[in-house]
Formats: sequence, structure tokens, C-alpha cells
Amino acid sequence: MRIAIIGFGAAAVGFLKEVDSNKHEVIVYEMNKDIFSSSISGIRADGKLFVSSEMGGDLEEILFDKQLQKEIVDYYSELSETEPEIGTRENLEELQKKFFINGFKLVESEFFHIGTDKLKIFLKNAHEEFVRKGVHFKFNSLVKDIEINEKVIVEYIDREIREEIKEEFDRVYIAVGRSGFKLIDTLTKKYPDIILSNTKVDLGVRFELPDIVVKELNEALYEFKVKFKSSNGQLVRTFCNNPSGYVVTEKYSDFITVNGHAIHDQKSTNTNFAILVTHSFTKPFNDPNGYGSYIAKLSNILAGGNKVILQTYGDFKKGKRTKKLWKVFPTLSSEEYVLGDLNLVFPSKTSVSLIEFIDNLNKIIPGVADEENLLYGVEVKFYGKKLDNNLFENLKFIGDCSGQTRSIVHATAHGIIEARKLIEN
Ligand SMILES: Cc1cc2nc3c(=O)[nH]c(=O)nc-3n(C[C@H](O)[C@H](O)[C@H](O)COP(=O)(O)OP(=O)(O)OC[C@H]3O[C@@H](n4cnc5c(N)ncnc54)[C@H](O)[C@@H]3O)c2cc1C
Repeated sequence: MRIAIIGFGAAAVGFLKEVDSNKHEVIVYEMNKDIFSSSISGIRADGKLFVSSEMGGDLEEILFDKQLQKEIVDYYSELSETEPEIGTRENLEELQKKFFINGFKLVESEFFHIGTDKLKIFLKNAHEEFVRKGVHFKFNSLVKDIEINEKVIVEYIDREIREEIKEEFDRVYIAVGRSGFKLIDTLTKKYPDIILSNTKVDLGVRFELPDIVVKELNEALYEFKVKFKSSNGQLVRTFCNNPSGYVVTEKYSDFITVNGHAIHDQKSTNTNFAILVTHSFTKPFNDPNGYGSYIAKLSNILAGGNKVILQTYGDFKKGKRTKKLWKVFPTLSSEEYVLGDLNLVFPSKTSVSLIEFIDNLNKIIPGVADEENLLYGVEVKFYGKKLDNNLFENLKFIGDCSGQTRSIVHATAHGIIEARKLIEN
């Protein structure tokens, strides 16, 4: 069978690791110029892996298969030639209780941190392994459209020669992650029946504070994931905690957001994590990604162009523009942010939810609500439309673009599962 994989991220890794390339001709199209380039893919930044039945995606066959999740962690650790950083899990019950009585739910999970630096080794080793297996890679190839007939036609732009090319396959696996939302939009407009649901977007800030404030929690858990319900009913959660890490920007084609990562062999003295508020919509509105993109663009416009906004927590609460920093210093380069007021960006219910979350967290971790801690905005997590993989025999969606996964482990597992289905047939 002639098979195309669109995108070389976590889902593609899972698929390629498993597929028998003696039986099939497999070609991977990746829009970036090589395996390392992409600011919007977690297998190129940070690399926090987790084993949990409470997070990472919605597919039960992955959520409840901890054995498969552990195998994936081992695969990433082995190919990145590293021993992942982990938490001691000391006093776990005590911590769970403290969170519970203050209105939070601590999500149960084991965490393994690979690090941005070690992911480069992983990518190099994985790519070499796949090439040895006979997989063909086409870099600089941006897939614009897919046509489904008896065969599947992949239409892509070869960015080197700037030419549009069409190729024919028996089956295509779309694995474009979140950054491939344009291709997904094109396909869902053309084949609207593949959308199962499309209701949510997460919006919030990247929060940064000195390591010393959260040292105990970092040592016990490495990553702490908690959920909280604000007084207006919105769900607020932490995401992607980076002890001794760095805040970074994430560049989409027409806006910039914030994110964070940590490096295995280079440490800062600050911890950062995202605080995200889930925004759920009902009919007639059906474009949560559009909503998130507009809010992100608004923050860039207020920051004078291609920048994000930075504000102290004290000023955010008072609704004042931040003019000076003196106690906590940002790890993001000063060329990438402007001191401003995030209240001009967020709807008031989002600001209320963020403030309630931080003030309540301060009861468990004194110092979190210090007026000088930093908020960067905005951070957005696009859920992606949930897509139906049973509609077409010859077109499948794997990983985050399917709307069914939200993490490296789950996206990789999704690729593995779809490759196994192919092998069984
Ligand atoms: C900065 C950052 C840090 C993260 N950190 C973590 C973490 O620590 N732990 C964790 O579990 N999750 C993390 N995530 C989320 C994680 O990266 C994703 O859940 C996971 O990578 C999804 O895998 P995927 O294969 O679906 O997509 P991706 O890994 O995003 O791969 C998609 C690939 O498709 C390519 N592509 C997109 N569109 C096209 C197109 N039209 N044509 C050709 N190629 C295309 C992209 O360039 C990319 O290489 C992070 C995400 C980001 C952005």
C-alpha cells in the first residue's frame, strides 16, 4: 500500500515506529525545512511525558493503558539517551488533601521530563531509525489540500522550488498537530460530516515566579496539575509547569502567544506554568479557535506588533498598566514583550477566574499571589475539532489534529494504535 503521513510530530513518530515499511511505501510530508524546526510542537520543546488515566486526551484505549504509556516514555528516554527528571512524590497524600480542602483537584499522574536539549538527540535518532526502515521524508512540503476519491490526492507546495504538486496514495494519515489547523479547516469545510464536536478553547496566561516559592511542590511532583472551578462556573487549570525554566513565545502564521519550557542542562531561577480558563460555547457560535485567535491578536496589537504583554500580578488585580519590574525578573527576552495591561485583552469573567485561582492557590503555596509575580499574555490552547475517523477508509486523523489527544504520549499512542490497526488488516 502507498501511504502518506502529513506532519512529522509525536503522532507520526508513533505510527512510523510501528508500521511495517517492507509491506508499505511510506512518505512523510513536513512543512518545516528539517526535523528540528517548529516552534509549535512539543516534541521539539520541553518534552514532559506523563503516565496518567486522568489527562492527555480522550481516547479510553490510551487513557486506561498505562503499560502502553510507560512503553512510550521508555522509547523517548532511550532514543534521547537521557535519564528523565522526575518528582519524588513525597507527602503526596498530604498535598492532595491540602489542594482538596482549598477547592482544587490535584490530577493524579507520574511525570518524566526529557528537556528541549535532549529532544534534539531523540529526533535525530528517531529520524535515522525511520530512514533505515525505508521511510521517505519530504521536508519543506506544506500540504494545502486533500482530495478523496478511490485514491487520495495530496496537494502540497514544495517550498524549495515554489511549485504546487499533486501525488496519489492508497491511504493518508493526517498528523499535523495544532499548527496544522489551516489544513483541518480546509478539510472540515469540504467534508463537514467529519466534525463530531467543536465547542472549546482554553485562554489564559503564563505565570512566572521565583523557584523558591514553589520548591517543595516542584521537588515532590515536578509538574503539578490542578483544576479549580471559579465563582462564575469556569474551569481553571494549571498546565505545563517548568521548574527552573524559561518563558518563550509561540509563533503562529498571524499571531504570537506565550508558552514555557525547561532545559535539562541549563537552569534559570524561576518557575513558570500556564493558568488556563476553559471557554465553552453553544449554538449559534461555532468557532472557538477563531475566538482564541482574535484574543491573541488583540494582545499583539496592544503590544505594538509582534510582541506579547507582560504585567505584574498586583497591577493585573488593580487594572493598572505595569511600568516597572523590581523583584521578579522575566526569563523571556525583553525584545519579545511589552509591559502593559492584560485587562484590556481578556473579557472580565476570564480576569475574575484568573484572580480567584491565584488567590486560592496562595492558601496552599504562600507567595504565589505576591504582587510582583509575572503574568504573560496570552496563552491559548486550541482543542481542535473532534474528528470522525470512521467516515473514510482511506483518510485518518492521528494525534492532536484529530481533537482526541493533547499530549506527546497520547499523540504517539494514537499513531501506534492506528499503525497496529493497519497491520492487523
Ligand atoms: C511549545 C510546546 C510545548 C509542549 N510541551 C509539551 C510537553 O512538555 N508535554 C506534552 O505532553 N505535550 C506538550 N505539548 C503538546 C504536544 O506537543 C502535542 O500534544 C503533541 O506534539 C501532538 O503531536 P502531533 O503529532 O499531533 O502534532 P505535532 O507534534 O505538533 O506535529 C505536527 C507536525 O505537523 C507539521 N505540519 C503542520 N501542518 C502541516 C502541513 N499543512 N503540511 C505539512 N506539515 C505540517 C508541523 O510542522 C509539525 O511538525 C507542547 C506543545 C507546545 C507547542
